[in-house]
Amino acid sequence: MNIAIAGAGIAGGYLSRLFLQQGITPDVYDGMVHDTRCGYRSCGWGSPLGIGTYLAEVGLDVKDYLIEPMSSMNFDGLVATTPLCTLDKPRLIRDLTRGTWVKRQNLDLEEAGDYDIVVDATGISRALLPPCRSDLTLPTLQHRVRVESRGSKRLEAGVYGNRIPGLGYLWVFPLGDDHYHIGIGGIGLARLDTLLDRFYKDMSAEYSFTTICSCTGVVRVTSPFYSTPFYSQKSRNGTTPQVIAGVGESIGTVSPFTGEGIVFSLECAKIFADSLPDYERYTRSVLARFLWMKKERETLDYLQSRKGKGGPRLQDRWRFVCSARRSGIGLPLLEAFRRIGTLSQWVEMPGELE
Ligand SMILES: Cc1cc2nc3c(=O)[nH]c(=O)nc-3n(C[C@H](O)[C@H](O)[C@H](O)COP(=O)(O)OP(=O)(O)OC[C@H]3O[C@@H](n4cnc5c(N)ncnc54)[C@H](O)[C@@H]3O)c2cc1C
Repeated sequence: MNIAIAGAGIAGGYLSRLFLQQGITPDVYDGMVHDTRCGYRSCGWGSPLGIGTYLAEVGLDVKDYLIEPMSSMNFDGLVATTPLCTLDKPRLIRDLTRGTWVKRQNLDLEEAGDYDIVVDATGISRALLPPCRSDLTLPTLQHRVRVESRGSKRLEAGVYGNRIPGLGYLWVFPLGDDHYHIGIGGIGLARLDTLLDRFYKDMSAEYSFTTICSCTGVVRVTSPFYSTPFYSQKSRNGTTPQVIAGVGESIGTVSPFTGEGIVFSLECAKIFADSLPDYERYTRSVLARFLWMKKERETLDYLQSRKGKGGPRLQDRWRFVCSARRSGIGLPLLEAFRRIGTLSQWVEMPGELE
């Protein structure tokens, strides 16, 4: 049985390591076509410390990638405790694929024809699977910034929904010393650069900002449920069966509320490695494990619809509370329920959206 993995990102890199542990040597492809200075896909590098469990399974130690804990974060003015941190994601991806010869080229459907199993771990590209049945993506803009404090206070880690007109948020993730990722993402948002500039201007009395690099990106907030099919089957040369199956963001394992996909892509790759070759079981397991993503997606759909203009319903607010709890964010329950985080525009300034 010969296997190819298209995509040596988080999901593909992790899966290749899990396969090696199972005695399977896959061919891994990645053209690394990224318009970013770091050479990897644009990402905030934020993760729960719990990612360590997944890394330990493949012999890696989370401490080797830890940049900064974000044990306290500002959420629209509310400071809460979190189990989040920033990780050196480029280094992690390099280590995940260490010991595997990654072919520096993209895999297309024609070349994929040489393999019995092809894993589509191509993230947002979803280069080999048929399209998602109902895709939803949001654009992002992120800067790596040097921040100098004009006083003694260091810029705190934070997430701000109230700086976005609609569904999305601005994030401030520390990268050690005086460096930060400061980014913005939102459904249907235009002029992300203007919104980021406004943030710098608003903070300019306390901090000065120097942009080191800037990159745009897109996040799939479709949810797995709306990203089906997860696999397709055909026969090669009229006889030999071939399966193309997706893992990670290609099949939507990203939180629709937060855009967080690193740890869920690892989890998805692990489910795949444990399910192979039962693709129906894989599909069922992913849909069941990430059922909450379907609910978050439905909230986004509702809030974008005509009916949603009136604001979030009880279940939308509850889903937000669940999202914060799932991430281990210690927001006071009632306050979280009232503010509803990334959806706070609807609560704080409902008139502005009409
Ligand atoms: C601006 C931004 C900030 C984000 N911040 C965070 C964050 O802080 N925390 C978090 O958890 N998540 C974050 N995410 C989401 C997270 O980056 C992704 O969900 C996660 O990286 C998905 O992993 P993946 O392996 O499925 O896909 P990717 O990491 O995107 O990897 C896919 C790989 O496939 C390769 N590829 C593409 N086409 C082909 C092809 N035809 N053949 C071979 N290879 C191919 C690409 O080069 C890429 O290396 C962010 C996303 C963006 C855009």
